[in-house]
Amino acid sequence: MSVGTPVSGAVLFGTTIFAIAMDATYVVVTISVLGVPYDATSSFLRGPAAAPEVIRRALHCGSANWFTELGDEVDPADGVWVDHGDLDGLPSSPEFAFVKIRERAAALAADGPAIFLGGDHYVTYPLVAGVAQHHGDLTILHVDAHPDLYDELDGERHSHATPFARIMEEGVARRLVQFGIRTATAHQRDQIERFGVEVHTAAEWDGGLPDVSGNVYVTIDVDGLDPAFAPGVSHHEPGGLTTRDVLGLIHQVARRDDVRLVGADIVEINPERDIHDMTAMLGAKLLRELLGAAGRRP
Ligand code: MN
Ligand code: MN
Repeated sequence: MSVGTPVSGAVLFGTTIFAIAMDATYVVVTISVLGVPYDATSSFLRGPAAAPEVIRRALHCGSANWFTELGDEVDPADGVWVDHGDLDGLPSSPEFAFVKIRERAAALAADGPAIFLGGDHYVTYPLVAGVAQHHGDLTILHVDAHPDLYDELDGERHSHATPFARIMEEGVARRLVQFGIRTATAHQRDQIERFGVEVHTAAEWDGGLPDVSGNVYVTIDVDGLDPAFAPGVSHHEPGGLTTRDVLGLIHQVARRDDVRLVGADIVEINPERDIHDMTAMLGAKLLRELLGAAGRRP
């Protein structure tokens, strides 16, 4: 595919010229954004259901421009991405919510890359299941303080602490690579072993992207960052990643010609715990950089 030859279903924007000069040739496709205001499986505090709204407000507050750090313009007025609003009317029962979330994710994934705003981390299970219907052989890059690999928590198999156990036992993803982990229990270490999860702990990770290729889904539980950078989360776990660590991960995904970002989510922002919208602004920044990465098609 060459510059000036738009492929069917994709749009080539003049704004890509700047980035073409800096990086590989690519076309920009339309990206879907969807809010998933669901936090009924949170084990400690509710609140993340309100996050999509505060992330959007931060994104559109006028304090920043629409260029990513890599030089991609993601102005919604250019049609680079479409905000589909929130997936409303979600039932509190996780089993029922699962079906609704998976179906909507699958429908959006059929049209191109999709970025989701949670919600608690349970939503990643149906989101990945939906995206995987159109993009097989997924590698999940997972930022979190917690492995979220419990077989069950407090007797509940559908919890924000269990999504990756469900994903891995059902074979929904091929690989799970975690970054920023610093709370693994003995049980979760067994689960890491059982599912062959690749873990880069907060203490050990050097900031590099391991050798991944093909279809990638990025899930960012914002408590993977240190509470100093992201106070608006339910579970403050000191000793975490920096904002720069996580941006670096996104930028490495964006720059790799052999990696295709097909989906992403930003979860676990709890506006009730936020200070001066710091974490909402972080969510908006992560969304902007993810939009830039998802728009790249080598
Ligand atoms: Mn999580
Ligand atoms: Mn977490």
